[in-house]
Amino acid sequence: MKIAFIGLGDIGQPMASHLAREPFELVVWNRTASKAEEFARNHKAKVSATPAEAVRDAAVVITCLPSSAEVEAVLHGENGILDAMRKGSVLIDCTSGDPPTSRSIAAELGGRGVEFIDAPVSGGTSAAKAGTLTVMWGGESTVFERVRPVIEAFGKKIVHAGPVGSGDALKAVNNALLAVHILSAAEGLAILVKAGVDPKVALEVINSSSGRSNSSENLIPQRVLTRAFPRTFRLALLEKDIAIAAVMAEDLHAKTPVISLTAERFHEAREKLGESADHVEAVKIVEEENGVELK
Ligand code: NDP
Repeated sequence: MKIAFIGLGDIGQPMASHLAREPFELVVWNRTASKAEEFARNHKAKVSATPAEAVRDAAVVITCLPSSAEVEAVLHGENGILDAMRKGSVLIDCTSGDPPTSRSIAAELGGRGVEFIDAPVSGGTSAAKAGTLTVMWGGESTVFERVRPVIEAFGKKIVHAGPVGSGDALKAVNNALLAVHILSAAEGLAILVKAGVDPKVALEVINSSSGRSNSSENLIPQRVLTRAFPRTFRLALLEKDIAIAAVMAEDLHAKTPVISLTAERFHEAREKLGESADHVEAVKIVEEENGVELK
């Protein structure tokens, strides 16, 4: 089965590595060509010069780009994939995208005999490397069954969220919760540091009590207290995700002040910390405002 993979970023690259083997025949394209070339040096994959060339006779095309805007650009831009995708092929969009754009892409492709499912992932780069990502997909089951082996190559827990756009919706809300947890854990620890409690002691208690979260159990001990802040998932991408959730809430007339406020705080954090900061670095705005360091 010939597969074209577009977007070898922090998570795309380890995902694609699971497709660089039998029974798949992998072709990759990346905007920065050197990353695709390096990938092909280390994996069984061919590099294409353009997105159109990559997808020309692929049965399955996977996109893993920052947002739906870049998926649109790869579809419609110069040497775009829209005119090159084969009738009967399937586009699996693993971008954490936005539901309305995914629905419009699905309609446009459907008019040309190309199927679409949105299939964002969670679990981070470590699960991507291990091939154990959670995949939440939106679309038709008949389409999913045709591409199941492809998704199973990098996914472990694979869940049908509903019609096209539902995977994106679920992913945006999951990540909105991640954003809330990062900031609320940092704020709680900032109070405790000001009160003279060692943050390690605080976490020992919180993590065996009801205030715990993935942020308090893993992210803060491993990345903040150590001051390591490794770059695995850009803050800019998490800001994009919580903004999608906030817009969904607005469109659906849902009252979600905590999510709206956290979206504003992540917008501020993105402006302050820039495009290449990691998501966990958002705690730095809490530290700065409180004149404390969580360590
Ligand atoms: P990165 O920013 O690391 O990589 C983005 C990729 O998109 C790169 O290959 C980049 O190319 C390419 N790209 C960016 N802009 C364009 C464009 N205009 N045209 C063509 N290609 C473009 O992102 P991630 O890999 O971390 O994330 C990809 C998606 O997966 C996002 O939607 C993210 O929210 C989601 N995600 C990420 C997770 C993570 O842990 N990192 C976890 C779960 C979901 P280039 O190399 O040239 O910059």
